[in-house]
Amino acid sequence: MEAACTNNMSETQDTIFGKIIRREIPADIVYEDDLALAFKDINPQAPVHILVIPKEPIPKLADAGDQHQALMGHLLLTVKRVAEQVGLTNGYRVAINNGAYGGQTVCHLHLHILGGRQMKWPPG
Ligand code: 5GP
Repeated sequence: MEAACTNNMSETQDTIFGKIIRREIPADIVYEDDLALAFKDINPQAPVHILVIPKEPIPKLADAGDQHQALMGHLLLTVKRVAEQVGLTNGYRVAINNGAYGGQTVCHLHLHILGGRQMKWPPG
């Protein structure tokens, strides 16, 4: 487990997800294009738990800028595409944990797709 992704860790740094992008460590990859990668979470919190990440190592959502507007839209549409691909026809949750209080542990922006069971609210 990596340290919490705190505000003073905003500088671009390599992470476990960078190693997955470069195929230095294995992952169960379900989708890839020029800008994004999607792979199964190693510690799934639902029957389907997939992470969608940009290949550009943006540490967290709060570090995204105006120059990332198109990329952010691409990531959301990638979530939709992957959810359809894996058959989440009854709905799913999309979550972004941002920074320490957000519970972010890997400092490379990622969108969680959680599905295959009824989600509860609030998430806690
Ligand atoms: P966060 O808590 O930062 O929002 O989410 C990080 C997620 O990355 C966690 O759900 C965790 O299980 C997942 N994760 C951490 N290390 C690895 C890994 O090496 N491979 C995969 N596939 N997922 C990982």
